[in-house]
Amino acid sequence: MTDRFDIIVIGAGHAGCEAALASARLGLETLILTMSVDNIAFMPCNPHIGGSSKGHLVREIDALGGEMGKNIDKTFLQSRMLNTSKGPAVHSLRAQADKLAYSMEMRRVLEAQEHLTIKQAEVSALLTQRQSVYRVTGVRIATGIIYHAKAVIICTGTYGQSRCLCGESITETGPNGLQRSVAFTDSLRACGIELRRFKTGTPARMDGRTVDYSKMTPQPGDVPVIPFSYSTDPAFVQKEQVPCYLTWTNELTHEIIRQNLDRSPIYAGIIEGVGPRYCPSIEDKVVKFPDHEKHQVFVEPEGAFTNEVYIDGMSSSMPEDVQVRMYRTVPGLENAKIVKNAYAIEYDCLSPGQLSPTLELHAVRGLFSAGQFNGSSGYEEAAAQGLIAGINAAMQILGKEPLFIDRSEGYIGVLIDDLVTKENQEPYRMMTSRAEYRLLLRQDNADLRLREKGYAVGLISEEQIKALREKRDAIEREKERLRKVMIGASEEVLSFMEAHGSAPLKTGMTLAELMNRPELSYDMLAPLDPERTPLPREVIEQVEIDLRYAGYIDRQERQVRQFRKAEHRHIPEDLDYSQVKSLRLEARQKLMQYKPRSIGQASRLAGVTPADVSVLLVFLETLQNS
Ligand SMILES: Cc1cc2nc3c(=O)[nH]c(=O)nc-3n(C[C@H](O)[C@H](O)[C@H](O)COP(=O)(O)OP(=O)(O)OC[C@H]3O[C@@H](n4cnc5c(N)ncnc54)[C@H](O)[C@@H]3O)c2cc1C
Repeated sequence: MTDRFDIIVIGAGHAGCEAALASARLGLETLILTMSVDNIAFMPCNPHIGGSSKGHLVREIDALGGEMGKNIDKTFLQSRMLNTSKGPAVHSLRAQADKLAYSMEMRRVLEAQEHLTIKQAEVSALLTQRQSVYRVTGVRIATGIIYHAKAVIICTGTYGQSRCLCGESITETGPNGLQRSVAFTDSLRACGIELRRFKTGTPARMDGRTVDYSKMTPQPGDVPVIPFSYSTDPAFVQKEQVPCYLTWTNELTHEIIRQNLDRSPIYAGIIEGVGPRYCPSIEDKVVKFPDHEKHQVFVEPEGAFTNEVYIDGMSSSMPEDVQVRMYRTVPGLENAKIVKNAYAIEYDCLSPGQLSPTLELHAVRGLFSAGQFNGSSGYEEAAAQGLIAGINAAMQILGKEPLFIDRSEGYIGVLIDDLVTKENQEPYRMMTSRAEYRLLLRQDNADLRLREKGYAVGLISEEQIKALREKRDAIEREKERLRKVMIGASEEVLSFMEAHGSAPLKTGMTLAELMNRPELSYDMLAPLDPERTPLPREVIEQVEIDLRYAGYIDRQERQVRQFRKAEHRHIPEDLDYSQVKSLRLEARQKLMQYKPRSIGQASRLAGVTPADVSVLLVFLETLQNS
């Protein structure tokens, strides 16, 4: 086997799979090295893909040409559109995954991919050459073999010097007892890369045959099922689904936890790593929300191949004896048998301020990183970064412009910008509240927002982009038509309005104006619109949202134009901030460390004030005029 590749991806988790597929699909010889090929795209935690804001990420990955959406459409057990009682900005698809099938299908896709070589190995060292800055040259694996590459993408997740904690029992392994990686992160430190310790946790898995579902509330899937991927034929995902179940903790659960807090590695101070505030352990919930009488618990299937079920909402690192007692206080789990204990895991990951928006590390040219290693949390966040890192490593080697997605274009843009500019002190999990322009960044229009970018980098086919452009034109044409169709205040129309609980028309209104009324829908207005021609559902969906929320959308688009002014005011990558005389010391240090790409990004750095930004703007002006 050759030892020379264009790109080496370290780790075949959710980030690594997307990164490797992207670079191989762009024609680059890619090697993916991972410690266990039988655990490709392994889901060590919740058995679901998507959910609030994470569903948006999956749709955006798919729009750009990534794999996660297609993979879950082929391997889901149940699917639901969440938040449908709220506005479209927070509608989010979530699908329960058959974990084993998900991993096997992703492995099948990787093995079928041209230009992609898969090898089971532990990478023990990053190899670099020192020029003015470090430049990556390849990696060494634990057996001593060296592989050369023009770029390396770190996607090592939660395995870096990881250790798992279940009460007093501490095991030096990766998740689920898998092998951990020891030497690699030390080799990164040797290149001046700063690392820190983060932690996360997972709940116990129970034997489903010992769960009494009659004491729980079934949570069935949606009918019809909406696929994640724009490439999936909706007919393909209409199948029998496996329900989840809802139950609750109670005061007895909470009392057992309070009585044993001293035995929790979190509260006993044994755990060094910082955990995700938005995925709290049950211990954290009991301590931080003492007034909550109960906490939601979802019992979710792990796969069609097993009886194992996942107890969502009760991740913990309590000792096993405490786990048995606390879980058995939950209605339906009175006799449940634990198959796998809950535990917490600590691992090495990147400290903030070392990444550029392309996901290349400032300290080493040609070294990119993605996923949990970057300080994020979640399969979807990892996959999104993996895709971008894979594309940008390829673009760098092909001498093409990198792919940037800004905060007004996608949740991926929000994710990467927050990881690059913010000093996140805990694992970063995506939420809709993080996106300023979320009415524009809906999960239903990800293709309209990002597919052209996927096409520009070469991951979207001619056929796909043609279909997208036809869809866009059909949407614009129909909106234009509805803006021209006048509806007069005739008897027939007034009785129609009355029948639909809508205010009578005083004067003529266009159909587009009528669609701005929340009680009226496109389908409802058909009797008043005899000229309309049949349109695909996805076109009608966009027309309806754009016209119904026209006012809000216009306002947000105005805000985006303002935002882009600063975002498109670029700062030269090699700007010497020591030359910007009147910058405050703190601001100078932050700008030198974070190397923001634009004035917009500089203004989002902690420690950089609006006054500093003005100083910088003046300096850039003089530079431009000199
Ligand atoms: C116990 C636990 C609980 C979690 N709980 C949550 C949660 O509640 N909510 C949430 O959003 N997310 C949670 N997660 C995180 C979620 O699993 C990750 O976000 C996701 O798996 C990250 O994907 P990744 O691709 O970055 O890394 P992983 O999926 O961790 O994949 C990393 C891959 O790299 C390989 N690797 C590592 N080092 C080397 C090396 N030196 N050489 C070769 N291969 C290597 C590994 O074998 C693995 O295949 C949890 C994770 C764990 C382990």
